[in-house]
Amino acid sequence: MEIRIANVRKEFGRFPALHDVSLDIRSGELIALLGPSGSGKTTLLRLIAGLEHTTDGRIYFGTEDASARTIQERNVGFVFQHYALFKHLTIADNIGFGLRVRPRATRPSRKEIRRRASELLDLVQLPGLEKRLPRQLSGGQRQRVALARALAIEPKVLLLDEPFGALDAQVRRDLRRWLRELHDKTGHTTVFVTHDQEEALELADRVVVMSQGRIEQVGGADDIYDAPASPFVFSFIGESSSLPIVVRNGEAWFEDRRVAIAAHDCEPGPSRLFMRPHDIDLADAGEGTLSGTVAMVRRNGGGRRIELAAGQGAHRVEIEVPAEIAPSVGSQVSFRPRRWRIYADPASVKGTANAAAAKASVPARAIAAE
Ligand code: ADP
Ligand code: MG
Repeated sequence: MEIRIANVRKEFGRFPALHDVSLDIRSGELIALLGPSGSGKTTLLRLIAGLEHTTDGRIYFGTEDASARTIQERNVGFVFQHYALFKHLTIADNIGFGLRVRPRATRPSRKEIRRRASELLDLVQLPGLEKRLPRQLSGGQRQRVALARALAIEPKVLLLDEPFGALDAQVRRDLRRWLRELHDKTGHTTVFVTHDQEEALELADRVVVMSQGRIEQVGGADDIYDAPASPFVFSFIGESSSLPIVVRNGEAWFEDRRVAIAAHDCEPGPSRLFMRPHDIDLADAGEGTLSGTVAMVRRNGGGRRIELAAGQGAHRVEIEVPAEIAPSVGSQVSFRPRRWRIYADPASVKGTANAAAAKASVPARAIAAE
């Protein structure tokens, strides 16, 4: 089932939780909505499910306007963060619930419902647990039962709202792999909400990065990580540092020093230079390099992490170096990014009251270099 979200706006009272959101979800795709708390992920999911109505814009299931359909007719399976299993029902009865409450004409026989529950327990790799009660299962097992229950109604679309959010890191990682395998087996169109970037990037075919009720970028893990479309995406995904710079005559200036990075494609004016710790090299002091005072040095897995205070403003920059390199705190070091991106600084665009509008009007110019 393809889902098309067209210019959707959602207000709660006067508060806009989603602004003009458009997104095409392909049939059979596993898509992740990723963003910080409050960015509108759950709202978008609830709109798709039919649990909320749009203030503006439309949602299509295939070619059909979904607003004409009731929740039941949309036939979506929903799993929430907190396992909403019925405490007093056995696992088999929990899984069969959505079938048992159907009107008689479409309700399968009791025997058929039991058979289907057992089949689904096999699918979610919990065979033989039919007679147990939810409290007799671990958190991870309960979430798998919740998923089996969502699948029991043979939904066209599966909507998962932080389904593993309440579980331990290791269990989450296991369930993530398991969900991906299950998805590949069943081929449901699946929308998965998470605020965990590792989960989104590992699990999904495409990731939708959201912030403040807007979609910032849609893409595969490589697009999102290597070509972030906005300063928000750059800083939200992976580790990064940024410095305020000015682009003048195709050159980048940090305070009173010219930085030897190509900036001829960039919008002139105040901008921000974004870099990742492992894309920065230490350099010999000299023309065109950046420099800073070492504020902290710490071991970081196989390498070492140096935290610098750069320039008059003591801007924080983190650099990943080999473990053999260990400059002392307080010493001066020079560095140069190997890869970077420059974004026009929306806050400093004159004559525009609102930063979001400024961002839209000034395309981010970016350079990945060598
Ligand atoms: P997320 O799932 O990304 O954390 P939500 O979609 O839950 O974000 O919320 C987006 C914004 O909408 C938040 O600011 C939240 O407070 C607001 N919001 C969500 N649901 C309601 C509601 N029923 N009434 C009022 N405000 C709401
Ligand atoms: Mg939410």
